[in-house]
Amino acid sequence: MVELCAIASGSNGNCYYIGNHRDAVLVDAGISARLILARMNKQNLDSSRLKAIFITHEHSDHAMGARVLSKRLHIPVFLTSRTFVGMYPNQKPFAPRFFEPGQEIQVGSFRIHTFLKNHDAAEPCSFRIEHDGMHVGVFTDIGSACDNVRRNLQMCHALFLESNYDDTMLREGSYPLLLKQRILSDHGHLSNDQAFELLKNYSGTQLEVVFLSHLSAENNTPEKAIGRFTELKEKYNIRLTSRYAPGEVFKLGKRFEQGTLDFS
Ligand SMILES: [Zn+2]
Ligand SMILES: [Zn+2]
Repeated sequence: MVELCAIASGSNGNCYYIGNHRDAVLVDAGISARLILARMNKQNLDSSRLKAIFITHEHSDHAMGARVLSKRLHIPVFLTSRTFVGMYPNQKPFAPRFFEPGQEIQVGSFRIHTFLKNHDAAEPCSFRIEHDGMHVGVFTDIGSACDNVRRNLQMCHALFLESNYDDTMLREGSYPLLLKQRILSDHGHLSNDQAFELLKNYSGTQLEVVFLSHLSAENNTPEKAIGRFTELKEKYNIRLTSRYAPGEVFKLGKRFEQGTLDFS
């Protein structure tokens, strides 16, 4: 059984928990270490299970808490060397563990598959986390979905999937033109429409749950995001994440033919 929780999700901070009864990893630490630990505590997620932090890219909404959290818990931070160079000095972890995009890393009983994606960062990566035949994808900060994203998405049983902006809200909103162009570009973010098309066309039949993630506060609303996925709600369990509070702890179990769940 795998437990999932969006500790924080949005343009002001991202942190995703994936764990079992013994081991856990965080994907990104984009809020303060103190807040990550407080939110984990609130959801009864034991921080002593945390064995590693994986950083997708150097933007502060993904990296700002990594240094302090890794020091406090004495756990490694996995990132690419180019991401490390791109980080602000006060975010750089003390003892980074470098990986090459495409490399697989074993942490306890979890296997982390790393791959490059399109985003305006030094060496942006996403992760698919495998445990006992179950696959969890954390796919945010994606300008346009490349083959890597599509291929990894096809294998997932659970997904944190970026649904950053409503196209009309962004185009008619108050952001400066340059920022709008950056978000809309192939190296910006996934819109509600793009996320919907990606899910509709590339998800596998085993996919169970999708958490819409990294919603923009300015250019999206939870209602617009989840409303865009109405067509797929019969097929998948589609849920929201929040920037303000930790999400629910979702237990992803192995589904047997009878439709029962294995929580061993
Ligand atoms: Zn981000
Ligand atoms: Zn980013």
